[in-house]
Amino acid sequence: MDGQVPTGEVKAGTVAILGVPYDEQSSFMVGPALAPARIRQVLASGETNLSAENGLDLGMEARLVDTGDVDPGTGPMALEAIEVAVGRLLDRGARVLALGGDHAITLPIVRAYSRRFAGLSILHLDAHPDLYDEFDGNRYSHACPFARIMEEGLVTRLVQVGIRTANPHQRGQAERFGVETVEMRHWQPGQVPAFNGPVYLSVDLDVLDPALVPGVSHHEPGGMSTRQLLALIQGLDAPMVGADLVEFNPERDVVGITAMVAAKLLKEIAARMLEVAGRPGQKQEG
Ligand code: MN
Ligand code: MN
Repeated sequence: MDGQVPTGEVKAGTVAILGVPYDEQSSFMVGPALAPARIRQVLASGETNLSAENGLDLGMEARLVDTGDVDPGTGPMALEAIEVAVGRLLDRGARVLALGGDHAITLPIVRAYSRRFAGLSILHLDAHPDLYDEFDGNRYSHACPFARIMEEGLVTRLVQVGIRTANPHQRGQAERFGVETVEMRHWQPGQVPAFNGPVYLSVDLDVLDPALVPGVSHHEPGGMSTRQLLALIQGLDAPMVGADLVEFNPERDVVGITAMVAAKLLKEIAARMLEVAGRPGQKQEG
C-alpha cells in the first residue's frame, strides 16, 4: 500500500523515524532542512508503495513508527535539542532512524547513543570523510562531525566507505583517529564491512553518484550506484541499533528523483533494522 508510515506507540523494539529539519551547519548551501517533509510527501504521493524489497509492508508494520520532527531551533542549543530528542526515544527502547538535515546532526545523535550502548561501531557511507578539525572556523560544521565523535571517544570503530575527497589534512585525521577507510576507488561492489556488536549506520546521500542523486549540496562524481548501496545495506549483517539518512537537498533535486531515492533508502534501512532486531550483541546499557 502507499501512504504514510504509521504513527503509533513507541516501545521496546520500535524503529522510530525522527525528522531532523536542520541545515544550519551546511558550509556551501542550505536546503537539507526541507528533506524530512519532502521524503514523507513522496512516500504518501502514490508514486510508490511502502513495501521493502524483502516483502515487508512498512505501512502495516506496527514496529515502525513515524514520530514526526524534532524542532532544533537555531543557535548553539540546536545540537543539544537533537541529542535530547533522540535520547528520549532510546530510553523508551526504540531504535532511531533519523532523517536529516545536514551531516552535523550525526554528532548529537551519536552522543545520545554512546551513553546507552557499549562497544558501538559506526558505518559511515559518504563521498566525504567529514573529519575536518574545523571548517571555515566552525568545529560543528557538517564537514566535522566524525572528528568530534572520535575526539570524544563515542565509538570503538569508525568505518568509512565511499570516500573520494580526502585531502592531506583529512587523511592525517583518519590516521590519528584510527579510522578504517575504504576509499571509493578501492571499494568493490558487494564488499560489506563486518562488525561485532551494535552498529550505527550513517548514510550521506552523496555517497551515490550525483548523476543518480542531483539533489545533494555537494556533487562529487564517481560514486556508488543506487543498487550497489542498497545491496550494501541489505547485506549488512550486524545488529543495527540506529541510522541516519542525511544531506538530501530538495532545493537541488531534478524531477523528484533524489526524493524518491531517499524514500527508497528509508524503506530499505528501516526494513533491515527490523530484520536484524533482537540479534545477539544488541546489548543495551544504561
Ligand atoms: Mn557527510
Ligand atoms: Mn558528503
